[in-house]
Amino acid sequence: MVGVLGAGTMGAGIAQTATEAGLEVLIHDPVAGATDRARERIAAFIARKVEKGELSEVERAASVARIGTSATLEGLAVAGIVIEAIPEDMELKRDAFRRLSVVAGADTILATNTSSLSVARIASASVHPDRVVGMHFFNPVPLMALVEVIPGPLTDPVVTDSVALMARLVGKMPVISADTPGFIVNRVQRAYYLEACRMVERGLADVTAVDDAMRGTGFRLGPFELADVVGTDVNLAAGIAIFEGFFGDPRYRPCLVQRRVADAGRLGRKSNAGYYDYGADGGRGAAWSQIGARSADAWGFTRLAAAEIEARVLAAIVNEAASAVADGVASPEAIDTAMRLGTNWPDGPLAWGQRIGLVSVVRLLDSMHASVPDGRYRVTPLLRHLADRGGMFLRSQD
Ligand code: NAD
Repeated sequence: MVGVLGAGTMGAGIAQTATEAGLEVLIHDPVAGATDRARERIAAFIARKVEKGELSEVERAASVARIGTSATLEGLAVAGIVIEAIPEDMELKRDAFRRLSVVAGADTILATNTSSLSVARIASASVHPDRVVGMHFFNPVPLMALVEVIPGPLTDPVVTDSVALMARLVGKMPVISADTPGFIVNRVQRAYYLEACRMVERGLADVTAVDDAMRGTGFRLGPFELADVVGTDVNLAAGIAIFEGFFGDPRYRPCLVQRRVADAGRLGRKSNAGYYDYGADGGRGAAWSQIGARSADAWGFTRLAAAEIEARVLAAIVNEAASAVADGVASPEAIDTAMRLGTNWPDGPLAWGQRIGLVSVVRLLDSMHASVPDGRYRVTPLLRHLADRGGMFLRSQD
């Protein structure tokens, strides 16, 4: 049985994925009516599959019937694994893990779906930190194939293996990540957002030009369009958490334009306005005119061409993926897999870097660093080492 704590966006998605894989689910949420609403949402999603002929009526009824609710948090302790999906607040999570660990059996696995908090710190509130692990699903859970599995420093390897196995059991691809800020996906993806807003801030490109260039490269959404989907407030909070997690490393410093758009209440698609305006039908309108970028023309900067925008963003992504490898976050293969499955990027960043040529990537980063020498563009030493010696991150490329 799988216990799910929190019946919001992620909890409901995890519960749906588990029941569709045939597992019994028990869900708890302290807000009145939240679990019932989640069950109704899940039932509606599953019913749509019957309409599409993907599921029989008997399977639908069985899936919905497998989801039970618990009136208390403690009631989840009967499950073999409890997956926590409550708000991204360290003290809330620590309290939940302390309470769960007091009543859970010695074999119960306690997993957190945190996107950006330290698994070690959540685990240290538990009576059995060796039973605590990160299990990071992606939104929307039923559609996204990746699960980052994050052992803390005290996590029993058997727990890590069991959670990876369970991810496979519910049809997901597990990738093991070290417990470092942003894990794999949110860390490497930072570079996508940050190089975009840095170019805009310096007046080297405007929002639309950056998004058009990146879509032209094969990304489904440009960085600003993506931030509007994620929520500019949520995206800024994640960026700040990662920046602080790295003790203020300039590589992760958020942009003022990110704060400006969120502070203005332009939270993205959910508020019908973010980096762009959106029509009543959800169609994308013009970019926000008050974005606060410098005027390239006034200062005599030349606007970047699409190919230059693309090259800069890709170089930043490759550099960040290399830095994750160098920090021991995960293997190069795991990082590329995580980025393809966790973000739907058309390719893994390291495979991309090798195709472009690591020497070219380093040369471009060096020139970017020369123009803004505050450390944001410093080349990861491992990347330079491999480029200098004709080395590769990945042995074979398909
Ligand atoms: P949400 O706000 O949609 O849902 C949170 C739920 O937890 C709500 O139903 C709320 O009533 C409930 N809750 C609040 N306090 C609680 C408590 N003390 N105990 C139990 N339940 C409580 O949030 P979400 O988007 O589902 O995010 C949940 C977690 O998943 C966060 O840690 C978030 O960072 C992470 N996450 C979110 C996404 C995403 O895209 N939304 C993706 C990956 C991970």
